[in-house]
Amino acid sequence: MTDKKVAVLGSTGSVGTQVLDVCGRFGARVVYIAANSNTDLLEQQIRRHKPLYCAVGDDNKANELEIRVKDTDTKIIKGYKALCDTAAEVDCDLVYNAVSGKNGLLPTLSVLASGKTLALANKESMVLAGEIVNKTAKEHNAEILPVDSEHCAIFQCLKNGRADEVKRILLTCSGGPFFGYSFEKLENVSLEDTMKHPTWNMGKKITVDSATLANKGLEIIEAMHLFRVPYEKIKVLIHRQSIVHSMVEYNDNSVIAQLSVPDMRYPGQYALTYPERLEGVINELDLTKMPLTFDEPDESAFPMLALARHCAKQGGILPCAFNAANEAAVDMFLRKKIGFNDIYRVTESVVSHTANEPVKSVEQIISCDGICRKLAYDKEKTGIK
Ligand code: NDP
Ligand code: MG
Repeated sequence: MTDKKVAVLGSTGSVGTQVLDVCGRFGARVVYIAANSNTDLLEQQIRRHKPLYCAVGDDNKANELEIRVKDTDTKIIKGYKALCDTAAEVDCDLVYNAVSGKNGLLPTLSVLASGKTLALANKESMVLAGEIVNKTAKEHNAEILPVDSEHCAIFQCLKNGRADEVKRILLTCSGGPFFGYSFEKLENVSLEDTMKHPTWNMGKKITVDSATLANKGLEIIEAMHLFRVPYEKIKVLIHRQSIVHSMVEYNDNSVIAQLSVPDMRYPGQYALTYPERLEGVINELDLTKMPLTFDEPDESAFPMLALARHCAKQGGILPCAFNAANEAAVDMFLRKKIGFNDIYRVTESVVSHTANEPVKSVEQIISCDGICRKLAYDKEKTGIK
């Protein structure tokens, strides 16, 4: 059990609901929840967790929820800016950021600027603004605990040596539902098949990213900033079973790995109980049940990984362009407007149209994000039929 007070931003999402489950099991006091528009689930969460505050990004939905929960003691916070401000002001020990996409960036900066510990699931914060995020954390002496499963694993593995003793990070990747397919074969895969992830049950957008391997590309950039390692020191390994969540290889060629059953509640629990380890919410691992295999990724079949590596290497604003174009392309794919390989074509076109420049401000990132999204939806400019 824990007596920690926590806030959960993105509480209605795939990660957010699992984090709330973990909080419930450990008896953590949930003082603040936030989401964008899912008022049905927010109402249930208010009645179950009795938070002091609940923020709703969408103003109209906030008004609607306020009426529905009038009989409770929870105060409704209205709008995205107030959501970010409250994340900084609320009295708590830990803030989870499980908001999806670029909208996770401002809450991340707001929490860190208040000096609070941030349990970070929103990988886009690091992809878009890793340097600004790290600078803010350092200035305010705030700690970041990674909740992305691979990064939670790396965080644990890095405790076995000094930073200058690290040879490589081995970032594992399930390979998604289309492992072994060629680029040609991927041309005609359906949305339904794309949504059948072999090992993880996640939100829609990240499930598509796991099938194209864009997710692993974003995770390379996330790892570079979280752990301050250069791009060259991160190697992706396909590991179909999702048991080894990532590894760190040291100078003496010893490799330290973190293993557990694939369940997003585990990284949520690790952040909650850190620096202690308490009895788990997840099942025990039985290593006699399955072989553990490792393969090289096939970048000719999954060019999103190579494109993300290019953006990681160049740095600057290109990771933002990659992320924005991919989010727009995945949105079109989910609405069946474009095919699976078009996600790559759209993203590649946007990245190649973007003149790189160093990242100096959040305003610049938001502007680049908007321009790249607009371009991604413009079929004349990207040449997608
Ligand atoms: P979901 O789409 O399932 O949930 C997104 C959450 O963010 C919802 O609560 C949504 O609210 C909220 N949200 C979106 N936009 C806003 C906004 N403008 N203001 C406030 N809240 C907002 O996403 P996931 O849970 O899958 O992913 C969340 C993050 O975690 C992503 O960055 C993802 O990359 C990362 N991640 C996810 C993993 C997974 O297993 N799913 C694994 C590792 C990392 P509402 O429901 O009201 O729209
Ligand atoms: Mg991950």
